[in-house]
Amino acid sequence: MKSIAIIGSGPAGCYLADHLLRLIPDASIDVLEKLPVPFGLIRYGVAPDHQSTKAVTRVFDRVLARDHVSFFGNVEVGRDVRLNELMSLYDAVVLATGAARDRRLGIPGEDLPGVIGSGSFVAWYNGHPHAQALVVSNVQSAVIIGNGNVAIDVARILAKGPEELAGSDVSGQVAAWLAAQPLQTVHVVGRRGPAEARFTDHELAELGTLQRARPVVSDPASLNGDTAVVKTLRGFDESAPRDTPVTIHFHFDLTPTAFAGEDRLQEVQFRSAGGETVVLPAQLAVTCIGYEALPCCSAVPANGIFANQDGKVDERLYVVGWAKRGPSGTIPTNRIEAQQLAQKIVQETHGGERPGGAGLRKALEERNVRWVDYAGWRRIDAAELARAGAGRCREKFCSPDEMLEAALSPQLRPA
Ligand code: NAP
Repeated sequence: MKSIAIIGSGPAGCYLADHLLRLIPDASIDVLEKLPVPFGLIRYGVAPDHQSTKAVTRVFDRVLARDHVSFFGNVEVGRDVRLNELMSLYDAVVLATGAARDRRLGIPGEDLPGVIGSGSFVAWYNGHPHAQALVVSNVQSAVIIGNGNVAIDVARILAKGPEELAGSDVSGQVAAWLAAQPLQTVHVVGRRGPAEARFTDHELAELGTLQRARPVVSDPASLNGDTAVVKTLRGFDESAPRDTPVTIHFHFDLTPTAFAGEDRLQEVQFRSAGGETVVLPAQLAVTCIGYEALPCCSAVPANGIFANQDGKVDERLYVVGWAKRGPSGTIPTNRIEAQQLAQKIVQETHGGERPGGAGLRKALEERNVRWVDYAGWRRIDAAELARAGAGRCREKFCSPDEMLEAALSPQLRPA
């Protein structure tokens, strides 16, 4: 029986487990996850008001429930077990660790309070246990840098009124912060033209349906081209003005040059295509310019990804998802990529000699590592669903300790 360890339980890792089992149904697949809960980017990256996108977790849940798959939550490679140990225990090991660090602009003022990377901001509004609390308040104007779908997510979450977040799993704390801001303006700023924007049309068009906010284009003369995105932007420009508390302004061809303020952010400075300085006042700036992979124990990324040849990093060591190709594509992109990598692993892996999960369990038990198995995850899931307040589909636990407590089976709970 081939034994394969997948490090990371986000979409890339879960799709890979699924495709490996389709090809080798008797393989033994262990999915390791540093948090006690699975699903990575789906749980902590997809916006909390996009529950239909998050619904793919039902597919992944069925993968983790399969007989030949074991979930090892709360097991961090590098802390609880070393990568070289996994290499000796398993026939193949796959890095599916995503891209968890914000890319930086490298311009003055980037560390001012009020300037935050989208990874941190998205982790915060999604209740990630390691997310830092927001230190900014009284936000009247927010600047979002980048023209990708993450920029749209951030703009939409900021711009939505409390009733528009009904049915989401945004926490009470996050909802309270959003409701408390006297927000009037959200600026979404791209360094290139509208035809080069990386928004998908569907995501962009959704901004035109918001109740509390309306999108406008700062310079309608910049709307050259006939891409779907340009047409949607033109539609924003041509639609009848609505009186809304918040306006989302789209700006193009502005390169960020500095964040400025005394002891916190007060303005963001840009250079226009013609070389002029453009200043946008802001108390909050979110940079949505992409992500980089973090090291995984002894495996160290270069230029934001783990160097690989079609997913192969080294003998018996593979990489998939954003850790392989960088932060691009949609969730289904991972399915296609996982299918290809699964074929490669099956062709290249010869199994049967290594202890696999039995060896991992032994090592973790010897170190008193408390891992969360699939049944434990189901108990966390049930507890989060049960404690959801009015108008919410789920109330996530925001600390690993709370998750571990909920994961304990009733028989194991102290009286
Ligand atoms: P993205 O689509 O790659 O967009 C990044 C943006 O940052 C681009 O507009 C890029 O401009 C800009 N940028 C990069 N470096 C910059 C710099 N130094 N100065 C100014 N601007 C800079 O990335 P993303 O928005 O983070 O999204 C990541 C992936 O997740 C994408 O594939 C996205 O489609 C996907 N996603 C999908 C959804 C959804 O389907 N609902 C939601 C969220 C994310 P240039 O083009 O000029 O480089």
